[in-house]
Amino acid sequence: MSAEPVKKILIVGGGTAGWMTAAYLARWLEKVDIQVVLLESELIGTVGVGEATVPGIHQYIQYLGIKESEFIKATNATFKLGIEFENWAGMDARFFHPFAGYGVQIEDRPFYKTWWSAKAQGYSEGLEKFCLCTQLAKAGKFALPNFDEKSRLAWYNYAYHFDASLFAKFLRGYAEKRGVTRIEGKINHVQLDTSTGFIQSACMDSGQVVEADLFVDCTGMPALLIGKTLGVGYEDWSHWLPCDSALAVQTKSVVDPDPFTRSSARTAGWQWHIPLQHRVGNGYVYSSEFISPEKAREELLNNLIGERVTEPKLIRFTTGMRSDFWVKNCVSIGLSSGFLEPLESTSISLIQSGIAKLTAFLVNFKIDEKHVAEANRLNRLEYERIRDFIILHYKLNGRSNPFWQHVREMNIPSTLEEKIAAFSRSCDIKLIEQESFKEDSWVSMFYGFGQDPYAPALLAEPEKIQAVMNKMKNAIQKGCELATSHAEFIQSINT
Ligand SMILES: Cc1cc2nc3c(=O)[nH]c(=O)nc-3n(C[C@H](O)[C@H](O)[C@H](O)COP(=O)(O)OP(=O)(O)OC[C@H]3O[C@@H](n4cnc5c(N)ncnc54)[C@H](O)[C@@H]3O)c2cc1C
Repeated sequence: MSAEPVKKILIVGGGTAGWMTAAYLARWLEKVDIQVVLLESELIGTVGVGEATVPGIHQYIQYLGIKESEFIKATNATFKLGIEFENWAGMDARFFHPFAGYGVQIEDRPFYKTWWSAKAQGYSEGLEKFCLCTQLAKAGKFALPNFDEKSRLAWYNYAYHFDASLFAKFLRGYAEKRGVTRIEGKINHVQLDTSTGFIQSACMDSGQVVEADLFVDCTGMPALLIGKTLGVGYEDWSHWLPCDSALAVQTKSVVDPDPFTRSSARTAGWQWHIPLQHRVGNGYVYSSEFISPEKAREELLNNLIGERVTEPKLIRFTTGMRSDFWVKNCVSIGLSSGFLEPLESTSISLIQSGIAKLTAFLVNFKIDEKHVAEANRLNRLEYERIRDFIILHYKLNGRSNPFWQHVREMNIPSTLEEKIAAFSRSCDIKLIEQESFKEDSWVSMFYGFGQDPYAPALLAEPEKIQAVMNKMKNAIQKGCELATSHAEFIQSINT
């Protein structure tokens, strides 16, 4: 495709995707003579709402060599142990999706299978009692996990909530310090090489022409390079995920921050609550087919805690993905490559894996057709697996409004149908290639939505098994009692 190694990379866009890519490339290319330039337009601005993450964010921060405490202070971050789903399984029902598994294996099979078997034989303690991560979250506490072999009950993960604009600013400082150059201004049009179809240059309103060998499209939903210029199509998944709008608003913090994101089901979608140190991010993700923007706004405002500090901002989107995220010398990262609603906070992690694919498949800094094809294949699978996991939340809901009935009754991808059937049949979680959400996450969803699979009888005497389970539960309770509050934990970092 291109025999010559890349010498200059132009990142177009300075939102979360643009600056995450710039900072990562600055580190990756520290000892390599490849120039990295980022072009952004303050006039156009950014989406600026991605504030909840998943544990994979640690790898990104560690790769950049940033200390956790430095990162937390710079971005006003809080800790996230998982997501609480309120009113999804039915009115007033709530469950927690922790960044952790449940219990320690007792029999020769995963703990959750033993638990479901015990339940079928009358055991009444909830599965969540066997998860320290969940118990800490419920108690508003936080402690660092302990990966000591003897402390398996304290093996869990965590992520962060952070201020998106402070995050981008922090990464910009990092990238510029390491040689990334920034150009301010708007791209007017893009020029292609007529013989190869490769992008040649970006031409700005100011008249400046910026050439490069590789272009990273981080222009967000407009997808200026990959979509508008190269004509790569977008697959619309809104028949499975019909939410197409979000209203985002910030409020003052009036209580200590929870160590988790809250997702509360509403009339035609769900509301997020993301607590930071200094404020709270809120928003209502809804389907405009089932509720008007005015009604959605009213419902959102009626369900806020704390004084509003911004006006609700309306964002429209189409759930789906770019058919190929890498075409010729253009790689799309961030919203230009696709969007899945933020129910499981997966966009920033998709940015990370987009960067990982770019760097892994730019072998010897050359663009090679077979590597590009493999990167696209993996990217598609990753998107599809996350899509299925998100659809699961809707499919299993226990609510009665028209929107919720619609999503419960809709057809779903066969890959998801098979997973639900396998679980129901044999308590098995059937994972396939490129799953971001592993066994424990699927278990927490099935459990939270009150699914009871067929579970074989306990292998040992029920009383013995139950006694071991109770011991485990008590140890978790003790561990939770010993932990400090989330607010105190953050304070200890800031002082
Ligand atoms: C409602 C909502 C809630 C979300 N919540 C979460 C969450 O909790 N967790 C999570 O992981 N993700 C979340 N996301 C996704 C997250 O916000 C995005 O993945 C992230 O912000 C990356 O956006 P981006 O950088 O791709 O695009 P943008 O932020 O839109 O940035 C685009 C950039 O391109 C530039 N640009 C565009 N056109 C031009 C041009 N012609 N010339 C020059 N520059 C140009 C703009 O100036 C800007 O700098 C959410 C998204 C939405 C819509």
